[in-house]
Amino acid sequence: MYKNIENSYDSFKDARIKERAFSYELWLNLIDEWKQSPLLDVSEIGQTYEGKPIHQVKFGVGPIHICAWSQMHGDEATATMALADIFLFLSQKEDTFHDLREKLHQKITLFVIPRLNADGAERWTRETALGIDMNRDASKLNSPEAKILHDWAHQINPLFSFNLHDQHRLYSVGNTPHQTHIALLATTGDEAGTWTESRLRAGKLANRLTQIVQEIYPNKVAKWTDEYNPRAFGDYFQGQNFGLILLESGGAGWDLEKQSLRKTNACLLLDAFYAIANEEWKTEEISTYQSLLTNERNIFDIKLLNAPIDNKEKSVRADIGLNICEEYINGEIIFTWTLEEIGDLSIYTGLTEIDASDYQLVDLQYLEKGKNYTSLQMTINHQTAFDLTHYTNKINK
Ligand SMILES: [Zn+2]
Repeated sequence: MYKNIENSYDSFKDARIKERAFSYELWLNLIDEWKQSPLLDVSEIGQTYEGKPIHQVKFGVGPIHICAWSQMHGDEATATMALADIFLFLSQKEDTFHDLREKLHQKITLFVIPRLNADGAERWTRETALGIDMNRDASKLNSPEAKILHDWAHQINPLFSFNLHDQHRLYSVGNTPHQTHIALLATTGDEAGTWTESRLRAGKLANRLTQIVQEIYPNKVAKWTDEYNPRAFGDYFQGQNFGLILLESGGAGWDLEKQSLRKTNACLLLDAFYAIANEEWKTEEISTYQSLLTNERNIFDIKLLNAPIDNKEKSVRADIGLNICEEYINGEIIFTWTLEEIGDLSIYTGLTEIDASDYQLVDLQYLEKGKNYTSLQMTINHQTAFDLTHYTNKINK
């Protein structure tokens, strides 16, 4: 089913959303349109600390309850874009997916909160307006948003639930040179890591999803460590028998706005809903999922090998690791570079690797760990050999 959905993605992609930090104005338009769809039921289920409405989008009349929420962390919006695509998919009436939609409608009821942490989304911060990390608030429920999520899920009592996040772009799959594109976790609901019925449901579905994403992004799928954290919603909800899967969008090379991962999210979730509706998940093992390596930090965006690190004629040399960093300025994400590490980086991989053994640092330029750069030049015989500006232009298209 995944391939069929993926092949038709352009027919339900919401083309107005082009980047993760899309405007609040567009957000309000989207809500209005979802409200007008006869197949979606949109309601306000509460408000954020600063009074922004928190919406539930509901689809279907079936006995199997599924819930999903995105952007619990305000600056993690890849899945929100995908959910907008999914709502468009579910709103359409007559197309090649009519039967699938009808099946979903009859078999499942889907409850979704897109952009749970709207205050954080506006600031582009992980935390809520009060500075609380909502995913460490599942036990105390100090933030009003966490309380809403808690009560909402308990009311639904889902067979499956999806906790949708973005993770740092530069996680690697174990200690391999591969950038994690998608990470999954069938969270544990207790200290002992018991494979309860709930966790087994999640694990079996995660197994199916693993097989799919491994085909799209070979070697670029990881899982999170399953250490129990009762303050995290994923772990807490697993303990409540909610069949919870954590789905994280990682990095995708130079696709910094993660439009490729958005597409994967949208098609993967629709496939998951399909597998739940016709109970295909029941025949899955969990071995493929379990064989996934865990997320590690093993890569840099750019690694310059044996680079000059001072301006002397015979300069001191070391490896340099440069990473892309995001700044949120006036409603827009601006990308620059951080000089993350200087030294022996031989155990790490660069997504781009450059042998700088013959380079000289241009006069008046200096390297400082932790400093932000948009330009940095190195030369061979006074000719430019490396120009960071080239890469800065590439990441700020
Ligand atoms: Zn997150």
